[in-house]
Amino acid sequence: MKFATKLIHSGQTIDPRTGALGMPIYQTSTFRQQSIDNFGKYDYARSDNPSREALEEAIAALEGGSRGFAFASGMAAISSTLLVFSPGDHLVVCDDVYGGAYRVLTQLFSRLGIQSTFVDATDLAAIKAAIRPETKGIYLESPSNPLLKVTDLRAVAELARPLGIITLVDNTFMTPYLQRPLELGCDIVLHSGTKFLNGHSDVICGFAVVNDVELGNRIRFIQNGFGAILGPQDSFLTMRGIKTLKVRMDQSQQSTITIVNWLAQQKQVTRIHYPGLAEHPGYAIQKAQADGPGAVFSFELDSFETTRRLLEGSLLSAFAVSLGGVESIISYPARMSHAAVPKEERERKGIKDTLIRLSVGLEDAEDLIADMSAAFNTK
Ligand SMILES: *Cc1c(COP(=O)(O)O)cnc(C)c1O
Repeated sequence: MKFATKLIHSGQTIDPRTGALGMPIYQTSTFRQQSIDNFGKYDYARSDNPSREALEEAIAALEGGSRGFAFASGMAAISSTLLVFSPGDHLVVCDDVYGGAYRVLTQLFSRLGIQSTFVDATDLAAIKAAIRPETKGIYLESPSNPLLKVTDLRAVAELARPLGIITLVDNTFMTPYLQRPLELGCDIVLHSGTKFLNGHSDVICGFAVVNDVELGNRIRFIQNGFGAILGPQDSFLTMRGIKTLKVRMDQSQQSTITIVNWLAQQKQVTRIHYPGLAEHPGYAIQKAQADGPGAVFSFELDSFETTRRLLEGSLLSAFAVSLGGVESIISYPARMSHAAVPKEERERKGIKDTLIRLSVGLEDAEDLIADMSAAFNTK
């Protein structure tokens, strides 16, 4: 099956009891048992719920994995999955990792004896140099947030595998439509399903997907034990959102290219970070490992005043945290996604106070351009 067909037909998409086109919302906490000797497949909804299970089968199929796990948020998926590591283990992490992941790694997992070294993951030599005998995981995002830096996922996986190091990739920006890290040799795919996968800015959810059976059993143990599961209603909504992933991504990506080309000609714009531009340093790697540059990019403006004017003056793009919705979302990394990263650290990483990130939704690109043009020109 090709991707669009998989979106509609992967996992249990028909209710086995009634033939309904879609798994119902099994709004229950428990399931009646028949036999004292053998409990049924479903016993308690933290362990298994048919609505969540249908979604987990779908995400596993889309990422080309054997098992998928749905969590209450992207951070629940990330934090739960990081519990595969133990005190004394060391992680190498991309230095522009999502702010929430940075926060749990430096303030929570560090307390549990799991230390992280942050490196520029686009530099394979820097990753190599950070590896210690106790390194057990390499944690990546590609393209990264908010500078859209591209890491060679295949090369990192090839480096890690012989050393017994697990490669984890947060694939939120790309989704499995544009990039499938398991196929590139990585071990664990993580998602904030809140973004493009659900796509409608109305659910918080997260995923972990693996191919390896043993790793799958370990994450399953954590999901059931730790308990940060996705509820049935949100599972249903996310399943519904996922069905239109391809058409949404295609349209948003096409509009992104139109908007990027327009911005490149505006005098207030000093730099654009988008892996679809031939001058982007990660252009070739992005082309080799993904099926498109995506629908999120960032750009730098000539002054703080222009930055404020655009953020506060955009009427169509919502000035908000988050991305990947049908609505365009304009955000301010320095005070939003990366607010948890100390200022000196942030500036060292190139996340300036004049940097704006745009997630392009499904509005007409011409209207988005007119809106930004008006915001640029207000006094
Ligand atoms: C939003 C986001 C997360 C966190 O997901 P939540 O669903 O908000 O918990 C993690 N990684 C990336 C890249 C994100 O954009």
